[in-house]
Amino acid sequence: MKTEIRRILGEIAADARFTAAETGRDSFSDKVMKAMAAVARDQFVPDEYRLEAYTNRPLPIGHQQTISQPFIVALMTDLLETAPEQRILEIGTGSGYQAAILSRLVKDVYSIERLAELAESARQRLQTLGYHNVHVRCDDGSEGWPEAAPFDGIIVTAAASEIPAPLLDQLAPGGRLVIPIGRRWGPQELKLIRRSPAGDLETRSVLRVAFVPLLPGKV
Ligand code: SAH
Repeated sequence: MKTEIRRILGEIAADARFTAAETGRDSFSDKVMKAMAAVARDQFVPDEYRLEAYTNRPLPIGHQQTISQPFIVALMTDLLETAPEQRILEIGTGSGYQAAILSRLVKDVYSIERLAELAESARQRLQTLGYHNVHVRCDDGSEGWPEAAPFDGIIVTAAASEIPAPLLDQLAPGGRLVIPIGRRWGPQELKLIRRSPAGDLETRSVLRVAFVPLLPGKV
């Protein structure tokens, strides 16, 4: 394994231990760490940030958006507790990096991005890199993807003031929704919502986070 990948995995593991009291997990599953090792993050950042691709930080991807910090990607992926036959919905495709991680763990990934230029470049990048089980759509993700619902897991990578109701409607029994909730510049909390097999919802706060905002409409 390349030195820089080993180093970033070490930093993710250290952050997992450091935040364990809040997140309730002091390490992430092997399959999540393997996916983090397998996806080349330098392919998902603009050329001028290639050298920083394997640092444990968010990076700009244009249009005032960012690719999330690797530790946060690993945490959110781990919280989904995926299984190979599952179908996952992501809101906020951005660079396509989180979608690529998920695509190695589940059968199909449906990802929605409101900015047409980002959606198109992520779609092309994922095709070129061979992530053929990721389906990208340009739309307002707050509405979800009703034609493909229900989903075993839903992950939102932009902060919402409250959980969009359509996403709860599209979460299958036994499913998990991971979403940052809070104001634009104010405190945000990563939330984990679980729908029991009987259909009841249970919500838990996982960690203080800082995400770009979930915005209405497509552009
Ligand atoms: N998951 C991405 C990073 C996401 S940054 C990655 O791995 O690179 C958050 C993204 O959410 C931005 O690209 C932003 O344009 C998008 N976004 C914000 N509001 C949205 C909405 N309502 N529907 C879909 N995408 C949205």
